[in-house]
Amino acid sequence: MDGPIADVVRFGLLVLFLWAQQRIRPRRYLRYWLAGWISVFCSYVVWGWGGLTPLGLEVQDALGFNFMLGGVLAFLLAMLPSWRRARKMMLVGAVIGVMGVLTIDALAFGAVPKWLLVVMILAWQGDGMYMATRLLKGKLERTWKIILAICILYGFGMVLYVTMSSAKNLNSWAAAEVLLCTAALNWEWGERRSVARWVGTAGLVTWAAFYFADIALLHPTPARRLLDEFWSFPKYAVAATMILKIFEDATAEQTRMADKFRELYDDFRLIYDTHPHPMWICDEESHRFLTANEATHKVYGYSMEELKEMRLAELEAPGDAEAEDVRSTLEAPAQGTRIQHRHKDGRVVWVNVVERQIMYLGREARFVISYDITEQMRQDLKLEHRAHHDVLTGLPNRQLLSDRLDQCLIASERDQRRAAILTIDIDHFKMINDTYGHLVGDECLQQVAERLKSKIRKVDTIARTGGEEFMAVVSGLNNVLDSEKVAASLLRVFEAPLELTIGQIGVTVSIGVAVYPDDAKDAETLRRLSDEALYRAKRGGRNRAEYAFELHARHYAI
Ligand code: GH3
Ligand code: MG
Ligand code: MG
Repeated sequence: MDGPIADVVRFGLLVLFLWAQQRIRPRRYLRYWLAGWISVFCSYVVWGWGGLTPLGLEVQDALGFNFMLGGVLAFLLAMLPSWRRARKMMLVGAVIGVMGVLTIDALAFGAVPKWLLVVMILAWQGDGMYMATRLLKGKLERTWKIILAICILYGFGMVLYVTMSSAKNLNSWAAAEVLLCTAALNWEWGERRSVARWVGTAGLVTWAAFYFADIALLHPTPARRLLDEFWSFPKYAVAATMILKIFEDATAEQTRMADKFRELYDDFRLIYDTHPHPMWICDEESHRFLTANEATHKVYGYSMEELKEMRLAELEAPGDAEAEDVRSTLEAPAQGTRIQHRHKDGRVVWVNVVERQIMYLGREARFVISYDITEQMRQDLKLEHRAHHDVLTGLPNRQLLSDRLDQCLIASERDQRRAAILTIDIDHFKMINDTYGHLVGDECLQQVAERLKSKIRKVDTIARTGGEEFMAVVSGLNNVLDSEKVAASLLRVFEAPLELTIGQIGVTVSIGVAVYPDDAKDAETLRRLSDEALYRAKRGGRNRAEYAFELHARHYAI
């Protein structure tokens, strides 16, 4: 199929292709190309319907040509540097186009005086030079100069042409000029080695050359016939290079994205691998290791192959007494989970494990960071211990005793059991101090603490509450007599003298006892009552225990 109808179909298909491309990958130049080819398509439609329209042949020809000029102007606009906003660019295109079209149409439609024609040609070229300077100077210096040169040569050429000949048609001049400027822009536009750049520029120059040939070959010579035969070929070449350019750009973009992705991947891999803390990813369901960073291998001692055979739980050390101590003494961390992990060499460490659910290689996974907190935990435990224990004897201090007493009373109430509060004071301790000095007094206090502790169960509490005063909280008693047994065992423990560095020293203690709930139900009263009982023990001759309930013995059927 050939002829104008075939061209209409071909350019129609091209318009469809560009429209689809523009929808998939919206680009500014694609929009202009689309507009340009729609315009070219319209020109072929107008020309293709020759004689069928009610318009006169001249009007139809001018209209068709105006569409063609609009088309190539759009190609020119597509290649201008993209720093102008689209609307401004349209305005620029319109200003350039209107000057050319006015001149051409003025010539086509009537007898225009030659001087007016010369003025219009000069204004047209001046307009072109002004726009080129505004848009290209400082940006595309070489192209700017080429376009200036084209405008100047054109100015001379056309003035000579219209003054020397009886020319009635400047259409081909105008189209060729726009095509030459577009070719100059196209040369600077693409990548240096782009095929579209070379073929596109050649196609545009050939297209312009065809218009010059059109001006030169007026008579039906064989050359003219050849020109008519191949008239649409440069357009096909330009259209083909535009399609090529679209594919070139898509490929370049893919390569750029792949490079960017590789860079990003390398960056993240570097952060992950060189991170000082162990990090790993394990499967959400099976808890098997999928990947781990270098710190994991270094710290835990397992290779990736070994880890891949393991489940997360295999890192965890079974809870021991220390773990229980930590759980009861220290608050839970604000973020993550505190847990004990065992390294390959058997070393058990405390770690804070922070986890996030993620998608890894298309499956649900868990990203884990493990912070070694062993040292920090030791410090925390030490501080915690110091805040709640007496430095000299290591026994709980007043504050911890207070907490334990409260807990004991709550538990006793819940379990319907009795509890005893025993206030213990060393007899004539001042004399030991005065006789042997404070250092011996301190050693004495430590040994007394040890002996008292040896008689108190782990679940109960013995605290140092003052200088040479201690308090025991004993829970789980069945009756008040049990409290006497406890007091008696504490008195007995001092039957043997203390073994101090300076030799043996015999000490005795006096004890005051109050029992929950028989004597009182609240801590404050219980402490006061046991204190009063102690006072009675002192007055009664020391080295003995006195009981609050003796004051109101009627309550007890002893
Ligand atoms: P009583 O049988 O009436 O309890 O007589 P006491 O001498 O034991 O009681 P008193 O309250 O008169 O004296 C307690 C002494 O304990 C006085 C103080 O110097 C001594 N003391 C208090 N704290 C310490 C300590 O930490 N180290 C030493 N070495 N002595 C202490
Ligand atoms: Mg004393
Ligand atoms: Mg005292």
